[in-house]
Amino acid sequence: MRQPLDWQIATVKSIKPETEKIKTFTLTLPNWTRPRAGQHYDVRLSAEDGYVAQRSYSIASPPEQAGEVALTIERIEDGEVSTYMHDVLIPGDRIELRGPIGGYFVWEAGLLPEPLVLIAGGSGVVPLMSMIRHRAAAGSMVPTRLLYSSRNREDVIYYDELQSLRGDGLEIFHTLTRSQPAGWTGYARRIDDTMVKEVIAPFGKTMQVFICGPTLMVESTAESLLKLGVAPAQIRTERFGASGTAKGG
Ligand SMILES: Cc1cc2nc3c(=O)[nH]c(=O)nc-3n(C[C@H](O)[C@H](O)[C@H](O)COP(=O)(O)OP(=O)(O)OC[C@H]3O[C@@H](n4cnc5c(N)ncnc54)[C@H](O)[C@@H]3O)c2cc1C
Repeated sequence: MRQPLDWQIATVKSIKPETEKIKTFTLTLPNWTRPRAGQHYDVRLSAEDGYVAQRSYSIASPPEQAGEVALTIERIEDGEVSTYMHDVLIPGDRIELRGPIGGYFVWEAGLLPEPLVLIAGGSGVVPLMSMIRHRAAAGSMVPTRLLYSSRNREDVIYYDELQSLRGDGLEIFHTLTRSQPAGWTGYARRIDDTMVKEVIAPFGKTMQVFICGPTLMVESTAESLLKLGVAPAQIRTERFGASGTAKGG
């Protein structure tokens, strides 16, 4: 039997536009392994001349979605792999995939009983969405707060689904850093110490934090948490890219 870390050929089942620059690709896998929420897959593109490009993409779907995996990918202007995914791939196409990968940035309902704080910048919400979907699918009532930074309302991924999942201990806080629609009542600035303090306030010192997004956003948010007395062992981080300015945060 093949091991999960062998490359395998997945088939594109569907492609769903999420925002102007973001699409979700649902791929069916011949050798599906149940992932843990927060893990990622590697995607490999090979040209006829032997050139190979490989990138990591977080799993957006919950572990309960058997036989397939959803990847939510932002189109990075001039990016090699994300532009191929967005501009070339169509349903029915086949693509090389390896995974699921990662054992640190993962959350499993039932295993970590502490309240959950999820902090996302831009497409960094993807692995956190897998955790939120997993939480719902597993019927977990673990108190959970998502703080999600986007540039504009139109850039918020999964907005409607997040709205529908609110309740049962899940609270969602959006911050829109660049512009806000009329009547906006959420935060309207980059994530800062005060915002982090307000979001974690009800949990006292007991919580598990996952932060994902552009490098600078992840680092400044982790620093805010440390200043507020959250222990390093309670904070797990995942950095998506070198950019600190190209995405929300
Ligand atoms: C563990 C992990 C999980 C990831 N999960 C996701 C995911 O779920 N969804 C997703 O969209 N991306 C995700 N990424 C980022 C992804 O792996 C690629 O880096 C991204 O798609 C860019 O690849 P590219 O080939 O299109 O661009 P490249 O050809 O690698 O880069 C083109 C240009 O864009 C810049 N750039 C590269 N990455 C980013 C970025 N993330 N933001 C802004 N500028 C960038 C580069 O510095 C370069 O100037 C993840 C990264 C890691 C390490």
